[in-house]
Amino acid sequence: MASDIEIARAATLKPLPEIAAALDIPADALEPYGKTKAKLSGDYIATLKDRPRGKLILVTAISPTPAGEGKTTTTVGLGDGLARIGRKVAICLREPSLGPCFGMKGGAAGGGRAQAVPMDDINLHFTGDFHAITAAHNLLAAMLDNHIHWGNELRIDTRRIALRRVLDVNDRALRAVVTGLGGPANGTPREAGFDITVASEVMAILCLASDLEDLQRRLGNIVVGERVDRSLVTARELGADGAMTVLLKDAFQPNLVQTLEHTPTFIHGGPFANIAHGCNSLVATDTALRLADYVVTEAGFGADLGAEKFFDIKCRKGGLSPSAAVLVATVRALKMNGGVEKGDLGVENVAAVERGCANLGRHIDNLKQFGVPLVVAINHFTADTEAELAAVKAFCAERGVEAVLATHWADGGAGTEALARSVAALADSGEADFAPLYDDDLTLVEKIETVARKIYRAGEVDIDKAARAQLERWQEAGHDRLPVCMAKTQYSFSSDPDQLGAPEGHVLKVREVRLSAGAGFVVAICGSIMTMPGLPRHPAALDIRLNEDGEIEGLF
Ligand code: ADP
Ligand code: MG
Repeated sequence: MASDIEIARAATLKPLPEIAAALDIPADALEPYGKTKAKLSGDYIATLKDRPRGKLILVTAISPTPAGEGKTTTTVGLGDGLARIGRKVAICLREPSLGPCFGMKGGAAGGGRAQAVPMDDINLHFTGDFHAITAAHNLLAAMLDNHIHWGNELRIDTRRIALRRVLDVNDRALRAVVTGLGGPANGTPREAGFDITVASEVMAILCLASDLEDLQRRLGNIVVGERVDRSLVTARELGADGAMTVLLKDAFQPNLVQTLEHTPTFIHGGPFANIAHGCNSLVATDTALRLADYVVTEAGFGADLGAEKFFDIKCRKGGLSPSAAVLVATVRALKMNGGVEKGDLGVENVAAVERGCANLGRHIDNLKQFGVPLVVAINHFTADTEAELAAVKAFCAERGVEAVLATHWADGGAGTEALARSVAALADSGEADFAPLYDDDLTLVEKIETVARKIYRAGEVDIDKAARAQLERWQEAGHDRLPVCMAKTQYSFSSDPDQLGAPEGHVLKVREVRLSAGAGFVVAICGSIMTMPGLPRHPAALDIRLNEDGEIEGLF
């Protein structure tokens, strides 16, 4: 089959007003960025707020292989399938980061015949949202250092600054740096560092804010560090929230594009799935729900992380109530969870698939805890054998869960019609009885323990002493009602990426905690989490270039 970019380039895109018309969006509500990308105007979005919401469908996955198991691809394929069976549907995705684009090969706009287009734009600068977020974040950092330079009236302890700078490039050399070198004219030297833009709290805030006013309020709540007396210093005290909001005014509006099959697709925001909640913006999802009968969306990583945070953070904050979930499984990820080495995943191994189904079963049980009914979508790869697929179906049948084979990567929406019918029926059934996993009034420690025991099946939660003390301080400082955002490896239910399958009784170590008071969650870091990735030995950037016709080559 042709590569993703070849397929995308061969596609004929429809004018965006035609795509918008499928959702009855008037052409004058679009603010075009070229011919195939547009933002929805804030004035138009404001007119939608009293409309009823359509049905929300979450696409999540079993514990993945490093290549990804096709959540985005399935989200796009399912959206196209729902459109093919005559449903009024919108898709909601995250915006890709430039970091992985030039690092490890792989885009984030779907794949094969299930892609959002224009894929090259979407994967590169798109409508500039990430640049705006980078600028807003770094403006705050500059204002912080400037405040210290001009006398530090707030008595900020320069050894206890939490805010780092951000950049949307994978650059390990910037993880830990010293800023302010070169004498008094250059400020005060201090240890600092850079994260990738998707790890910025500003990104998480943009994705959880309900409107521009709420955006500014949340930006003002960002904790930049501590005073000498250990009280917290906010962006509001530095006076940065107004100017940051100005920089983010356009970035806050959702972006509309289309799939290869012309299904309306909102792509907006892209917070990290570890130290943040890993799903597209609330404003895009809410807008889509007011416009479409069905909205298909994706959450990052496997269901233990992505779905849990989608439910406990995004749905809780946005008052969203999902009608159904789609749990994506692949034969290769099941084999890996069944103990097969990466190099042998292409070889038939029914016994390993059967063993790996323990992982699938655990995710099924977990999703049920939230009261959301589910369908398993088997994302078909060409190497899958009949016997392996039959093993997955048999396992699901035994659990009373429907499993549908989906061939959207090869066939587009024609390959997901059966899945679309099952998902629509489930969403329409009224079976969903959604509730988050824990209540707001548990303590922060209890919330961490609840997720660890109920979702990860940890036997014990070991919170580092200093981290526990910090949780208690935040608890007392009025941050007690925040949900927790777990930062854990996506490869295992435990914090050890090598414990595949369905481990239980393990010890979950919480090594560090961070307060995202603007976004509105407390991050619990289990194991080591990288907030500034590095480039691999052979980065994708080495193969990306313009050819003689001015076309991009090497972008997947
Ligand atoms: P996720 O969202 O779970 O990270 P993606 O949907 O982005 O995964 O898919 C990861 C990669 O796998 C993409 O390059 C995509 O094109 C590829 N892919 C997904 N499904 C298939 C499939 N059925 N066959 C072959 N490649 C696939
Ligand atoms: Mg994805």
